[in-house]
Amino acid sequence: MSYTLCEKVRDLEPYEPISGTYRIRLDANESFYNMPDEIKNEIKEIIDKTAFNRYPDPLASDVIKSFSDFYGIDPETVTATNGSDEMLYILASAMLQRNSKVLVIEPDFSMYRFYSSLSENQVIAIQKPDSLKIDVDEVIKTANDNNVDMIIFSNPCNPTGQGITAEESRRLVKSVNALVILDEAYMDFWNQSVLQEAAQYDNLIVLKTSSKAVGSAAIRLGFAVANKTLTKALRAVKSPYNVNTLTQEIGTCIFSHKELLTERRNTIVKNTKELYGKLLELKKTYSLPFNIYEPCTNFVYIRTELSYPLWQYLLDNGIAIRYFKNDSALRITAGSQEENNEVMRYIEKYILEKYVSENR
Ligand SMILES: *Cc1c(COP(=O)(O)O)cnc(C)c1O
Repeated sequence: MSYTLCEKVRDLEPYEPISGTYRIRLDANESFYNMPDEIKNEIKEIIDKTAFNRYPDPLASDVIKSFSDFYGIDPETVTATNGSDEMLYILASAMLQRNSKVLVIEPDFSMYRFYSSLSENQVIAIQKPDSLKIDVDEVIKTANDNNVDMIIFSNPCNPTGQGITAEESRRLVKSVNALVILDEAYMDFWNQSVLQEAAQYDNLIVLKTSSKAVGSAAIRLGFAVANKTLTKALRAVKSPYNVNTLTQEIGTCIFSHKELLTERRNTIVKNTKELYGKLLELKKTYSLPFNIYEPCTNFVYIRTELSYPLWQYLLDNGIAIRYFKNDSALRITAGSQEENNEVMRYIEKYILEKYVSENR
């Protein structure tokens, strides 16, 4: 007897963005803040009170309430998941028949294409123009001409850091028959959200995560917000105990600290603007072949022919940023001021040691 893996999984590799440990991690768009002692102490009390022998609340009611209060939405329109990644998988698998058409707009978050392919959907891709702005008219036309079943994109976009306005999102949702999945993972850093009106539409699901602005990537907690019909379906197809008790309780606690989260979000936005400004300055000083995109997120995207050697140089010096081979681009998450100064220092060092000397 012999067993062979089916073709679609045979050549897949486990997800491992980078291996090794680095003194500065600016590669995953995480918050640079760990939780303060005040919250860590509350978490210790939560652990003391936890009934470890019991299953979690399948509807995650408390954490959904806390999340909904934070964003000012109706808890009846919210589904909680084990990170929004879990919801992406659910959307591609359970919410679509096999061979459905899924429209993506690339470059975008790679998981959209990955889960769609894994679920044996047909992926249709629009390429963004050099500006990396989404052309909403083109999306509407492609969706309707091809009768697509689902459109999925991030706004603002990871990795490009570019976004479309709330008005453009509304126009897109209203102009197509497809189910629109609008991933607002980074919308905390911008002001063009349609989260509060998500439940008014027939065909819209807005995704949120606590992994970025909220600084809780470790606990794996994501949310989908949609009308009650869609929400009932999402709650029905998810695995019953998907969000563990500790995550539910800790998430409930974290979302109750609205002031702290808002203050931190503001600092991250400020640090991102500074990082972007410093990169522009460096580009000007050395006439660098950098295409730097002004972000409305917590990271900066740069297209450059130097992407690979620069990325490698930074890694060799203990600084991890993200490299995109397909787009010859780099994505630098904004860190603390010290971390940003350090990454800028090493980028300049690279330019002086490798670039300027070779291009003299
Ligand atoms: C980070 C990220 C997510 C994943 O969030 P998790 O809740 O940590 O799974 C989803 N969408 C986009 C666009 C992201 O960048």
